Amino acid sequence: MTPISFYPGPSTVYAETPRWVQEAYDCGILAANHRSNAFMDLSKDTKQVLRDRLLIPVDYEILFISSATEGWEVLTQSLTREVSQHFYNGAFGQKWASVAENLGADIRKVPFEIGHSLPAHKIDPKAEWLCVTACETSNGTMIDETLLAALAQQREDHQLIAVDATSALGGIFLDFQLADYWFGSCQKCLGLPAGLGLLIVSPRAMAYAESLGERAHYNSFLTMLKHARHEQTHYTPNVLNIYLLWSAQQAAASITLVEQKLRQRMTILSSLIYNKEELHWLVDDEFLRSQTVATIKAPNVSKMKAYACANGILVGNGYGEWKESTFRIANFPAIADVQFDLLCEVIKGS
Ligand SMILES: *Cc1c(COP(=O)(O)O)cnc(C)c1O
Repeated sequence: MTPISFYPGPSTVYAETPRWVQEAYDCGILAANHRSNAFMDLSKDTKQVLRDRLLIPVDYEILFISSATEGWEVLTQSLTREVSQHFYNGAFGQKWASVAENLGADIRKVPFEIGHSLPAHKIDPKAEWLCVTACETSNGTMIDETLLAALAQQREDHQLIAVDATSALGGIFLDFQLADYWFGSCQKCLGLPAGLGLLIVSPRAMAYAESLGERAHYNSFLTMLKHARHEQTHYTPNVLNIYLLWSAQQAAASITLVEQKLRQRMTILSSLIYNKEELHWLVDDEFLRSQTVATIKAPNVSKMKAYACANGILVGNGYGEWKESTFRIANFPAIADVQFDLLCEVIKGS
């Protein structure tokens, strides 16, 4: 039997996926043109259910993109005149900064230690964008609402905030009002196959894009926005994944309930870790710890992984500088409670 994957991306997809794929096939949407009414209805309904479940403000626009990585690129290409500032404590935030740098942005890097809070006092007044990663998937740290609110409060009026919300979007409540450019891939917390992302933008971000007027790229933001407003996309999109997103969110509870459930599971996992002498959280401070990606230090990670695997559980490898010393566990909504219970049993017995 294939083990249950707790890998934080690509991660376990919803168990109902085969049925939804069949429905997508049966209703003909997979062969529908992306300028057709059928696609426009799907786009409209998907955005509506996302607003509803994830509590996205009505004046924010939702765009379908191909991945979080594309979200990094579009921000620099289309919404940055010169300067973006990047606060990061792990591999994904760092990659984002280098993508911006390679595209020619004048970037300001603010690396900070894991276990330390976001250094909001280091805001550079020249930066147009302050870039943060809500859940640093590589090490299981989180920038929660309180930290984001502090950043929003300390910035200057002209400054905008961009949040890479991959690994958090769909799992925990995000206060969209606190930032202007939110994006995430569907392959993590949204429980879908890879190859689709969401970009959620504030009225200020849209106005800023208009003022820059960048239209030189295939994926220029203004081109994407124009089509999104008509429930279309500029290139032929991943219709199957959009259909799956619609189906999954239709079936999902409101984000506050989803978050509550994930927090309860994390509390259970947490007490297990505290009770096992050889296992430790990578991040001690629980307020800085992600609710959706657990990163756990173990003296012998490969032994731990082998034990879990023998018991039907695939835990995620550590990432980057923590590759050898930690393993990671996705606490995403697509993972069922019974699967999570099994994981806890295995950790208890390890
Ligand atoms: C996985 C991940 C990405 C990249 O996602 P893609 O689907 O490969 O574009 C970006 N940022 C974070 C925080 C991630 O976890």
